[in-house]
Amino acid sequence: MAKVAFIGLGNMGLPMAQNLLKAGHQVEGFDLSPASVEKLKAAGGAIATNAAEAAKRAEVVITMLPAGKQVREVYLGAGGIVETARPATLLIDSSTIDVETARAVAAAAEKKDLAMLDAPVSGGVGGATAGTLTFMVGGSDKAFAQAKPILEQMGKTIVHAGGAGNGQAAKICNNMILGVSMIAVSEAFVLAEKLGLDAQKLFDISSKSSGQCWSMTSYCPVPGPVPASPANRDYQPGFTAAMMLKDLNLAQDAAKAAGTKTPLGANAAKVYADYAESGGAGQDFSGIIRHLKK
Ligand code: NAD
Repeated sequence: MAKVAFIGLGNMGLPMAQNLLKAGHQVEGFDLSPASVEKLKAAGGAIATNAAEAAKRAEVVITMLPAGKQVREVYLGAGGIVETARPATLLIDSSTIDVETARAVAAAAEKKDLAMLDAPVSGGVGGATAGTLTFMVGGSDKAFAQAKPILEQMGKTIVHAGGAGNGQAAKICNNMILGVSMIAVSEAFVLAEKLGLDAQKLFDISSKSSGQCWSMTSYCPVPGPVPASPANRDYQPGFTAAMMLKDLNLAQDAAKAAGTKTPLGANAAKVYADYAESGGAGQDFSGIIRHLKK
């Protein structure tokens, strides 16, 4: 069993750390929020006074932070993880961040003999709690092989996507598909209503036809057809519209840097920006259907 430092114990990080504890690992955690840290303690974890303190004592460091800015600070800041971790410590960042930051942090870690993986996840808070996340992993074969048994305690599908940054590349491409498809499915339900077609009927037909996709069959944006979807609980998140906007903007930044056009991705980012600005930021991203109905 490994000594794990877990930094960032929010909606995702806390249940992931709890699953490591359940699997028998020693987990020492840190978060800027004292309430989050207390929850880890209640689950049997230890508490560090800062990220570097936890990293110093660990064999594996896992971070689950909001965005690239915090990841840079925690790893590369003065007295940060890259400076304080012992050589051969395995570093895993599971936050969703830009590819450039992921590659810069991994390169800085490598200079200090530290193997680093970017390992963002899909599956949301439900998947984090159930231990069924999908991990998309970028980094060396050796580091991937070392990390896999630990990631398997928190996820069901663990995919090695290639070198440093490729986990983040996979994540933003996947979420661009999700953002675009959620808007498409929502527009179809809005149009169906205007045409006098019952939502359940459209679901029964499209879920078995060529319009079938995850946004329709697993996360349906209208109440009724998929009882577990946020539409049935007034669009409480789940995965917020603000987070979807963040990921769509990351995809746009990456597309610009790569010199490629993603017209539907660009429009999806605009639609989500409108929704977030008009009060939807904290609602589930499938609540975009309410915005489209206006
Ligand atoms: P969250 O805001 O609930 O948690 C982030 C935590 O990081 C907070 O508790 C915050 O206090 C802590 N934090 C911030 N700066 C810190 C620092 N410098 N040192 C220590 N702790 C710090 O966010 P979340 O929903 O847990 O998401 C975390 C990451 O996972 C994000 O990158 C998000 O895009 C990604 N993600 C989220 C979901 C989801 O459904 N929530 C799904 C997939 C991926």
